[in-house]
Amino acid sequence: MRKLLLQADHVIPMTPGNEVITDGAVVVDTVTGIILDIGAAASVRARHQEATVRSLPNRLLMPGLVNGHCHSGILRGTAEGLPVWQWLQEFIDPMHRVLTPQEAEIASRLCYAEALLSGTTTIVDMWRFMHGSALAAKELGIRATLVPYVAEHPDHDYFETLQSNEEVIKTWHGQANGRIQVWVGLEHMFYAVPQAWKRATAMCRDYGVGLHTHSNESQFDVVETQKRYGLRPVQALEKFGLLDAPRVMLAHGCWLDDAEISLLAERGNIGVIHNPTSNMKLASGVAPIEKLLAAGIAVGLGTDGEKENNNLDMFEEMKFASLLTKVSSMNAAALDSWEVCRMATIGGARTLGLEQQIGSLEVGKAADVIAVRTNTPRMTPLLCGKYLNLHHNLVHAVQGGDVELTMVAGQIVVEDGHLKTASIASLIADANAVVPGLFERREAWLKNQRAVSRGAI
Ligand SMILES: [Zn+2]
Repeated sequence: MRKLLLQADHVIPMTPGNEVITDGAVVVDTVTGIILDIGAAASVRARHQEATVRSLPNRLLMPGLVNGHCHSGILRGTAEGLPVWQWLQEFIDPMHRVLTPQEAEIASRLCYAEALLSGTTTIVDMWRFMHGSALAAKELGIRATLVPYVAEHPDHDYFETLQSNEEVIKTWHGQANGRIQVWVGLEHMFYAVPQAWKRATAMCRDYGVGLHTHSNESQFDVVETQKRYGLRPVQALEKFGLLDAPRVMLAHGCWLDDAEISLLAERGNIGVIHNPTSNMKLASGVAPIEKLLAAGIAVGLGTDGEKENNNLDMFEEMKFASLLTKVSSMNAAALDSWEVCRMATIGGARTLGLEQQIGSLEVGKAADVIAVRTNTPRMTPLLCGKYLNLHHNLVHAVQGGDVELTMVAGQIVVEDGHLKTASIASLIADANAVVPGLFERREAWLKNQRAVSRGAI
């Protein structure tokens, strides 16, 4: 069974023109993982009579979703109700100080499973000890761009380093038939000394990979950058050479001003990832998404981590992206549903520089395809033609649990809503087993810190 023909009630290729193919089909080469054909089912079937047919009635097919900014993790629901910088100092950074490689790998396995089950086929993960994450991505079958959480600063000597990042690049970049990519990750400009900024950019150039970092997330970020360097964050990133990597992805961008947006647009190699749930939850702000799109900047969508969200459901993220822009601009017509669908697919692919490979269903592209159930109350009525509502339902009605089939590079990894590549029960058991120890070690570290600052040690 080399050729697999997926036939469904609707196929949404996410190509320019917002086409919806009613009774459509996609033909996949399961060996190369490439899309061979797409179109109306009758003609596609006539052209590929030897193909194995997988009929998916009451389903729609669309490109797999691209989660452009995520962190693997196992802190879900345990660090709530704090603004971002306080939250980092009191919960997140102390966790990083005591995290073990084994715990980090378990977190990646859990998160990639959750992502695949809810229709994400590509994930950008900024995390720790990422050899384990690479193994998880390889085995679970997700497409992943791994960006280690690098810090090169005496105050943050417990993170990944440029050296450990380089090791992950050397070992894993391009592995699993190109499914795994490794970029240079920088937690934040403040987490590195100036010499490290230069080394980070040089490493990106040497290996031909991109740079991913957080920027303009909170007002604190802007105020503190202005205090330290007399510049706004994007201007500082430019001055320090961090925008000179072949590609740059900035997560959040809530507090980008017009001059910064112009600068990003002029450079052309920079994408911004919108994380509406995280931005609302941590009260970080509202990213100027319509301005970024109007400036022609590649904009993707990301869930951020399990601790900021608290799930990795990209369909929910699409809904919040739409709603947040509408309410913040007091304009119910803001951010059209097609635009949101693009951000979650081809827009995310553009931010990664992978728009020729993924993000839409087109001949020659990777077969990253999902099937979504349409015979559910929340998808009814489902209309095409004059009363087309399919795109609005995809953004505002669907939930990740409606994904029935997830295919990455021509391989079905989720079938009938079940992950085929790992035991979910084992992944959950592993996470539950290690969490208490992680929390106890964090508490012990914080207790020791308080004693040190009181002068007791
Ligand atoms: Zn983040």
